[in-house]
Amino acid sequence: MEKRHRISATLKQSATAIDLSDFSEHQVFFNRKIKPICGDYVALTKEQNDYRIESILPRDNVFSRADKHGRKQHLAVNVDQVLIIMAVSPEPTRDIINRYLVAAELNHIKPLLVFNKIDLQSEYFIATANSYRQLGYEVFLTSIRQIDSIKALQQCLKDKTSLLAGQSGVGKSSLSNLLFPALDLKTGKLAKKTGKGAHTTSVTQLYYDTSQNAFLIDSPGVWEYGLWHLSPIEIAHGFREFQNYLGACKFSNCSHSHEPDCAVIQAVADGRISEKRYQSFIRICESMDHLKPTNY
Ligand code: GDP
Ligand code: ZN
Repeated sequence: MEKRHRISATLKQSATAIDLSDFSEHQVFFNRKIKPICGDYVALTKEQNDYRIESILPRDNVFSRADKHGRKQHLAVNVDQVLIIMAVSPEPTRDIINRYLVAAELNHIKPLLVFNKIDLQSEYFIATANSYRQLGYEVFLTSIRQIDSIKALQQCLKDKTSLLAGQSGVGKSSLSNLLFPALDLKTGKLAKKTGKGAHTTSVTQLYYDTSQNAFLIDSPGVWEYGLWHLSPIEIAHGFREFQNYLGACKFSNCSHSHEPDCAVIQAVADGRISEKRYQSFIRICESMDHLKPTNY
């Protein structure tokens, strides 16, 4: 199927789509049965001066997050990887990395962990990065002040759609401007385009960098909210190193918190699962009982 038009942002009754053959952006309309999401490929028809979405092409995947009420909300589709950006300062809040990873794992989208501002030097930060590398995650240590440090990450972006995630102030805009040199990520442009603050349903925006055939999806503000509501069983599936043990618990509905003959608890006792990650798992499970936005 022809993948020529891609939704770059959605508004209440219309959307914007990039024409990938000439890189122009059009406003497109759709009827109520069609619900485009940022990142969708669509078939368009032209009616006089308007473009209308005829159909949405099959999606590879859907990336979901919590909305401000703690409900699951589709954020973006056809995403190849999530760039999870953290910084030496502001220091990641407790559990934030694991929450991002649970979201990525449960959405079946590859996470790339980016530890930024390494010029500020922090042994603790580097040790944390290494612990995630040992779990098998792809980890990048970057600084916008050491241009060589972003090269390895940049090579992962070509021909891919990357979703940008991370708290405010970690360097998402500064890094993106270096990683995607053909984009204009000035916040003014973003706010104007999506009408942020003007009753929009979403501020998620897709950008296209023609120089490396790379797409970037940015969704400022969404990352303040926690994960949508999940059971301990689901959350355990978001912890990569738990997978080998999940089938071995005595109870099939084990929450891995207090049950006898829990294979996860045993693996923690044996040092095969890190105590820190396990404690974080427990806290994330407990936080699901209060469906308030997690401040991160
Ligand atoms: P965003 O809110 O995640 O988009 O973060 P910004 O890109 O606006 O960056 C926040 C602040 O951190 C700015 O003052 C940047 O200059 C600074 N910053 C970003 N990356 C680095 C870095 O690698 N090292 C240092 N020292 N500062 C950085
Ligand atoms: Zn268990």
